[in-house]
Amino acid sequence: MNFNKPEGANRGEVIRGVAEYLDEKVRRALDEATRTCLNCEHFIEGPPDRTGEKCGLNGLMPPPSIAARGCDDHLDKIPF
Ligand code: SF4
Repeated sequence: MNFNKPEGANRGEVIRGVAEYLDEKVRRALDEATRTCLNCEHFIEGPPDRTGEKCGLNGLMPPPSIAARGCDDHLDKIPF
């Protein structure tokens, strides 16, 4: 994004443009930061000792990097 004031734009227009740009960036960052295996519909919780935790799509325990960030197949868990 070009943060230079466009020719003829007033301060309000520039602020609105920056806010729209940041809104999308923040929305995307929050979406990625909160997408984990633990809130994925495909995640299968195991017994209390957690030995049976796995991804329902492939039957494997996701590695930590995937568990923390989710993957492209993440599906928001329905909270009820
Ligand atoms: S690996 Fe992907 S699809 Fe499987 S539980 Fe984690 S986020 Fe969901």
